Amino acid sequence: MNTTLAQRQQAYARLLLQEGLNVQKGQLLAIDCPVDQAWFARLCAAAAYDMGCREVVMNWNDDALTREKYLRAADEVFDSVHSWTADFFEKVSAEGGAWLAIHAADPENLKGCDPDRIQRAQIASGKALEGFRRRETNNEFPWCVCSVPTERWARKVFPELETEAAMEKLWEAILQAAYVDGGDAIANWRAHSAELARRTERLNACAFSTLHYETGLGTDLTVELPEGHFWAGGAETCVTSGVRFSANIPTEEVFTLPVKTGVNGVVYASRPLSLQGNLIEGFGFELKEGKIVRAFAEKGEEVLRNAIAVDEGASYLGEVALVPWDSPISQSGVLFYNTLFDENASCHFAFGEAYPCIRGAEQMSRAELEARGMNTSITHVDFMVGTRDLRITGTTAAGETMTVFENGNFAL
Ligand code: ZN
Ligand code: ZN
Repeated sequence: MNTTLAQRQQAYARLLLQEGLNVQKGQLLAIDCPVDQAWFARLCAAAAYDMGCREVVMNWNDDALTREKYLRAADEVFDSVHSWTADFFEKVSAEGGAWLAIHAADPENLKGCDPDRIQRAQIASGKALEGFRRRETNNEFPWCVCSVPTERWARKVFPELETEAAMEKLWEAILQAAYVDGGDAIANWRAHSAELARRTERLNACAFSTLHYETGLGTDLTVELPEGHFWAGGAETCVTSGVRFSANIPTEEVFTLPVKTGVNGVVYASRPLSLQGNLIEGFGFELKEGKIVRAFAEKGEEVLRNAIAVDEGASYLGEVALVPWDSPISQSGVLFYNTLFDENASCHFAFGEAYPCIRGAEQMSRAELEARGMNTSITHVDFMVGTRDLRITGTTAAGETMTVFENGNFAL
């Protein structure tokens, strides 16, 4: 593996455009990118044009400006979203444009900012971008979430290193997680994706009706799964074009949805959660008939409570995801403070909006899906619960029990 970092960064950009989005001739591409990593957006745009992309449109962001806004802008601006911003998201997604979201925020960028402003802005954006989010959840356009290091994020992950060394080390960790190892990155990714598909097949064959989670941290939680649910993982299919794409790079999860009102017990998080620029640590939830009736945290409790209160569905679960303790990201030992990576190091749930992982969902109305137990919300936040000693027991509709996870890993 004598390839340079620059060569692997180029291979990563190509991987994002080919396997992540599978950009088609004549297609529009939107890229979210931090301004100080513009060079990487340029690499991605070049790769997209090589594939016949019609036009690349940019959605730039900047941590420092975002922070200034939360600290100093007029109070009323947090209750609405500009029509031109909403229009951008609406137009690109409605025509089936590809969307590359490069997430690289400092996990504590909004530390000390008013939690009320953060919550109101989240509600406003949830409402204004509802159409966009719904198309995204339903895979009506190809989208891919990925990351590149930024200086403040890299320093947070590797506080013992100088900025330049921390940036390089975070790049190595990101490339490794995406299987960009100097060999054929595309072939590596396809092989990995095929393995995730095999896991979903095994779980789908079992057709569990409940999963029971137990960990030494104190988790004791029973999760009911809807009738006709399926597990997804690896590549997904865009429902409007039939094109295959990978919504997250990296990804190690297979996931489905719970019955909204079918979750009972206590769950303890196993990793901190970076939420709207704040870090939540040592937290957990108690759930009764699906609803979070108690939220607790050693750090960031107010932000956590606000996050589960943005609407009715925010205090119910919307995702059940399985990731082995032995996954490469978990084994790297790096705590990324970035959900894209941390969720792929650990079994997790999300509170808020569910993915419609129910057979025949395309033909069902929103009301029919909700009747099957699907949760809906303007939010969707993954939180990690997997531990080295996690045990998950599955029960089928016929009452047969099977060990799904033992000592943090698949036992099926
Ligand atoms: Zn997930
Ligand atoms: Zn999720």
